[in-house]
Amino acid sequence: MDHVCIFYTDENKTAPLRARYPGCETVRLHGAPDGAVLSGREDQRVIFAAPNDDLQAIAAAAKDLRFASAAVYPYNNGFAPAEPIAIDLSKPRLDYMETEICHVCNLNCKGCCDFSNLRAETGVYDFAVFEKDLLRMKELFWGIAKIRLMGGEPFLNPNIADYAEKCREIFPDCDLRIVSNGILLPTIDQGILTRLRDCGCSIDISNYPPTRAKRKEIETAADAAGIGCNFGIPMNYFFRTILETPAEDPAPAFRNCIFTHCHMMNDGRLAPCSYAYCISRFNKTFGTDYPENDLFDLSDPTLDGWRIIEAFSKPHEFCRCCGRGAIPYRWKGHVSGKEAKKEDWLIRDTALGRTLAPAIQRTLKPAAIRLRAAIRKKRAP
Ligand code: SF4
Ligand code: SF4
Repeated sequence: MDHVCIFYTDENKTAPLRARYPGCETVRLHGAPDGAVLSGREDQRVIFAAPNDDLQAIAAAAKDLRFASAAVYPYNNGFAPAEPIAIDLSKPRLDYMETEICHVCNLNCKGCCDFSNLRAETGVYDFAVFEKDLLRMKELFWGIAKIRLMGGEPFLNPNIADYAEKCREIFPDCDLRIVSNGILLPTIDQGILTRLRDCGCSIDISNYPPTRAKRKEIETAADAAGIGCNFGIPMNYFFRTILETPAEDPAPAFRNCIFTHCHMMNDGRLAPCSYAYCISRFNKTFGTDYPENDLFDLSDPTLDGWRIIEAFSKPHEFCRCCGRGAIPYRWKGHVSGKEAKKEDWLIRDTALGRTLAPAIQRTLKPAAIRLRAAIRKKRAP
């Protein structure tokens, strides 16, 4: 396979590849490749150079055209791979995955969406299990477009850089981010921040009131290490999202939901969204029996990446328990132990919960999707 053909969407981004493969053929792509553009190239080394988020669709199109292999060169994800990444077209790519590398948090927000403020015990995602789980994910998916290392507060895990480097090693294609409330960032050893920067990791800052109070210090620490830091929109409100009385049909909540992409890997399991994964903490604390059975067991040898993606595209059992909208209340920190009440999460079966909240969410959903896309673009180097 001496002949190299680079399919690209932005000529400016192909310079490193053209330098690497002098004499290569270059073909501009307008959207996913079609049969005409790929036919007869089975014996060539094909490289798709495209924005990170477009690569799922491009690879899926190449698979449909019965291409056996290809390589990708993602851009706009904060990390330029040293060379194109060979991919196995028999597998899909997952669009997004988050993982909780520390189970507790220093802020303990009332109504934390991961129920971190209900965790009395400290603890981290065991690194050996984390690596094993990532390797299993690699058996199921050729890549993951975005990986977010979260908590609780991920900077409470002293080995955070090991986790980030392992992600980069196993999924070199990913847009790698840490999600943090930022408060600890000025206290983190510069050597750790430099390691995070060197593996192409950036930090998404959840912008709570105590975070805003430290914004200058956080930015100074990030700038000193040269690591990208994206402040989210100011969060002054949190939301009740779980129905006190689950609905019969999971579909309406799923259709209205803005978190359907938030797949979560933790402790040997993969969940369609973080709520489906973390609800066991709520059940354990309050003696409730919300469904906990929406998880894939990563040790199941029959798992198949395509089947997982199909399952994630449909409502699952726990969606019956999510409101079709959320009820806001003013954000409050340091609410844990006996102070945390199940009412902090629950939507009562009232007119507000039944009609007004769903209407608000329907209106906000397009804006939320646009905002997410804008934040994603902001990251691009
Ligand atoms: S900052 Fe708040 S919402 Fe985020 S993990 Fe910590 S307690 Fe939960
Ligand atoms: S359980 Fe369903 S509706 Fe609820 S957050 Fe997850 S995907 Fe959305």
